[in-house]
Amino acid sequence: MDSISDRPLLEDGRLERYEGSTSILVRSDISPKRRRFTIAHELGHLLLMAPNSEFVAARHIIGKDVEERFCEDFAGALLLPAWWVKETIHDRPRTLHTLRVIAGRSNTSLAASCVRMKKISGWQSTLLCWNRHESNWHFQWAAGLPNGFEGRIRSSDHTSAILNSHDMSGDVDIELPLRISGTEKRVPAQVSVRHGSAIALAVLI
Ligand SMILES: [Zn+2]
Repeated sequence: MDSISDRPLLEDGRLERYEGSTSILVRSDISPKRRRFTIAHELGHLLLMAPNSEFVAARHIIGKDVEERFCEDFAGALLLPAWWVKETIHDRPRTLHTLRVIAGRSNTSLAASCVRMKKISGWQSTLLCWNRHESNWHFQWAAGLPNGFEGRIRSSDHTSAILNSHDMSGDVDIELPLRISGTEKRVPAQVSVRHGSAIALAVLI
């Protein structure tokens, strides 16, 4: 690796090799934690490439692409080594606080930490995020979804009311209403609502 530089990219990162010189380009407006994860992801691409090939690898949409999934796993393993995660979790409870400890100490996002903990330590929880617009909460993303749940999680008609009623400091254990594959369900979750955003560590299955 010869250089890492920030650029106004559309994708988060890109690996380039040209005339024997290898560079990682990182989108200039992403957070430091996402930047670290992106660089680790691009190192995964580097590992897969033939030593002397010339190539450009853009960061694609993560999902069904085998190489992209490998690079996401590689980045998780590099930044959150299994032995370190297991030692740090030890017998801590499966809570948002523990997730924050892992993310804080590894300097990774809560989402990346959740995915990794699920992979190596048997956590069953999925991290869900909402943003508030006036009194309505809009579902933003999920990390660590069980297989087959991609794109199937929505807010239920009752989610906003629940999140509004729990606008308090601290982590609150609730039965969180969700719409999963079109069906209304209530799932056990620990929720934290702050400054117009809410996160929930929920057990979906
Ligand atoms: Zn990639």
